[in-house]
Amino acid sequence: MHAALLMTVIDSSKREDKMAKVLRCADMGSECNWVGRAETEEDLFKMAAKHAAEAHGMKEIPKELLAKAKAVIRNE
Ligand SMILES: [Zn+2]
Repeated sequence: MHAALLMTVIDSSKREDKMAKVLRCADMGSECNWVGRAETEEDLFKMAAKHAAEAHGMKEIPKELLAKAKAVIRNE
């Protein structure tokens, strides 16, 4: 009984480690359906910056937008 319960706890903590950071362009107030997924916030922002440049013609992401992006990042 107790061993089985322990396994369940370990399993769920492993799953949490694998949770991805998710950023949706739509959450930034855009009508774009791009969704970025990465293991770390840093990687996610790199992807987002690349997407913003390619899809939205933004050479640089303004600080306000970066702050907004941080606020809408989800763990999934
Ligand atoms: Zn977009």
